Amino acid sequence: MFNIFLEALKFASEKHLTQRRKGYDQAPYINHLIEVVHILNITGKENDPEILAAGLLHDVLEDTSTTANELKLKFGERITNIVIEVTDDMRLTYDDRKREQIHKAPYLSSDAKKIKIADKISNIEDILKYPVSWSHRKKRQYVEWSENVIIHCKGINPLLDEEFDKLVIYAKEVINE
Ligand code: ZN
Repeated sequence: MFNIFLEALKFASEKHLTQRRKGYDQAPYINHLIEVVHILNITGKENDPEILAAGLLHDVLEDTSTTANELKLKFGERITNIVIEVTDDMRLTYDDRKREQIHKAPYLSSDAKKIKIADKISNIEDILKYPVSWSHRKKRQYVEWSENVIIHCKGINPLLDEEFDKLVIYAKEVINE
């Protein structure tokens, strides 16, 4: 089963090859994906290879030209469904996508909820770590919006819940108006 994880790592690194994280010191996109899997495994003690593979692939439908069918053929139904669940509808505006995430969160599968939490932890850590051009106000809004999404994702992995809560408290302390 380790194979599926390595396949996902290779696939994600190729699909996101030329992408950089916005503002985050132009970090290669794969760094974010590795970070998400690191949070799932090291912090959350998640070791199901399919969940970890889905963690690596979680942005591949949203941010690259990969199709769900391509994922299904290569990684099977379960991983594909998790990735579909955590993919925003890019036809919507930025604000509508943010609203949708809050509305959809309660109905996500347990697998998808864990990835959501790890993703938000990684994003908030990046906001704190790197010189993003966002104002304090925008950073604070991102943290508060994340809380509104994640409140619906808790109760499955207490280690991830705890890490998220700690990070939010810290973020609110260090992001000053
Ligand atoms: Zn992500």
